[in-house]
Amino acid sequence: MSIRFKLLLSNIFMIVIPLVSSLILAIIIIGVNLDRADFKNHKFEDRFSEVAHDVFKEFITISNDALYNPDRFYDMDYLKNMDTKLKTLNSSMAFTINDEIYYLSDKINKQEFKDHLSRVSKKQNENEKYIFCEMSYFNHSFNLSTGEDCSLYIFFSTKPIEKFAEGFVKDFLKGFFIIIILTNGILTFFVSRSIIRPLRKLKYGAEQIKEGDLSFVIDEKSNDEVGEVCHAFEEMRKRLKGALEDQLRYDEERNEFIASITHDLKTPLTSIKGHLDGLRDGIADTPEKAEKYRDIIYKKVIDMDRLINDLTFYSNQTLKKVPFNFSKVDLKIFIEDIIDEYQMELEKLGVEILNNYNLGSKVLVKADVEKLKRVVSNILENSIKYMDKENGQIKIDVQDVENKVLIGIHDNGEGIKKDYLPNIFNRFYRVDASRNTSKGGSGLGLAIAHQIIEAHGGNIWAESEFGKGTSIYFELEKVDIK
Ligand code: ATP
Ligand code: MG
Repeated sequence: MSIRFKLLLSNIFMIVIPLVSSLILAIIIIGVNLDRADFKNHKFEDRFSEVAHDVFKEFITISNDALYNPDRFYDMDYLKNMDTKLKTLNSSMAFTINDEIYYLSDKINKQEFKDHLSRVSKKQNENEKYIFCEMSYFNHSFNLSTGEDCSLYIFFSTKPIEKFAEGFVKDFLKGFFIIIILTNGILTFFVSRSIIRPLRKLKYGAEQIKEGDLSFVIDEKSNDEVGEVCHAFEEMRKRLKGALEDQLRYDEERNEFIASITHDLKTPLTSIKGHLDGLRDGIADTPEKAEKYRDIIYKKVIDMDRLINDLTFYSNQTLKKVPFNFSKVDLKIFIEDIIDEYQMELEKLGVEILNNYNLGSKVLVKADVEKLKRVVSNILENSIKYMDKENGQIKIDVQDVENKVLIGIHDNGEGIKKDYLPNIFNRFYRVDASRNTSKGGSGLGLAIAHQIIEAHGGNIWAESEFGKGTSIYFELEKVDIK
């Protein structure tokens, strides 16, 4: 839910909830007050005693004042204060001196009250005594110190409807304020929490990044605008973390790479230097010995040349400096050519090479012939190099797999232990890490093969059983014959 929608909804609730609740509250209050007011059965005496009780108490206090200090009633401020106090009891007052109105509450109509007084003094209507404009009143007459006659009137209502209205308004207002405060508080809490909580997470995330820590996770479920910012932030964190890890790995690999190159170049160089010294110092004192020393030097130079070639190819490939010349390659012809190339060498070594095509018809793949040749050569050379059986056998399988062709090169050589298998496509990785075996090799062959197949958009992988043999598989994309 978007923040805009949330705010809109909260505003609607802020109006609807108090309205509905107030309505319910009003109904409840009316019910309760109707009970209390009991219009039908209330007797005047009951009403009088209930309502008038407080006013009467006040009247007695004032009357006592009049008894002890009648002249205070000249003082307008004193009368005003008295009126204010009476107002809080929902009553009003009048004060007359010699039948002339001296003070009158603003609620009371002066003319009406004057008429009422004259009617009462003439005793026109006995029933009207103590009733004025549907109000009851208390009356206390006394003399001021000057001897003037004065009268105090305190009015109060005994009508149940007024009592009812008074109770209703008081209770309703109280309830209404509580409802408004509660609705506002709860809605504000929930809406602000849904915005503030993700913002706090973002703040925390930003602080962690500032500290250089990218291992935290911003787990935000909401899908509003702030939630989207959180998701984007989390994505950014993951990428940053990935980039940082890549950088660390890259630095580590680069150091390893340099160490490996140094080692692989230093070993043959040391050997060359040693044998050259042997020739110069006359240690190789027979022509046979000298010949042997020269052969070793030559072999080491060839090894170095090969290593430098592989390295150059590998780094050019990494830097994407070597362009690929893709063309449609007939896989059958391609494999036959390679087998022809290796046939002689394999015969000499007593290794049999077989092929098996499981292809529907003529199959063409999209490939760079030269580079693909390098892949197959690297794999075949491994099969030859790591062959430990008397009856060595290499088998090349080619089969159709939907829109791809799967090539498998199997040998029955020494095989690779399970633990080492995942690493053989890493550069400079060799199962025999001592690098001192007669098999030589720098561990770049399969790394190069992997690079080339990846650039062809295919996969390369190995399966092996230690002691029994190894299979290297790779797949290439098929293309139309036309
Ligand atoms: P290079 O190919 O650069 O001369 P290398 O042969 O040691 O050196 P890779 O071709 O990359 O390097 O092979 C990596 C490692 O995998 C080898 O050192 C070897 O231990 C193991 N390996 C690869 N192919 C086979 C195989 N067919 N049989 C047994 N082990 C193999
Ligand atoms: Mg190799």
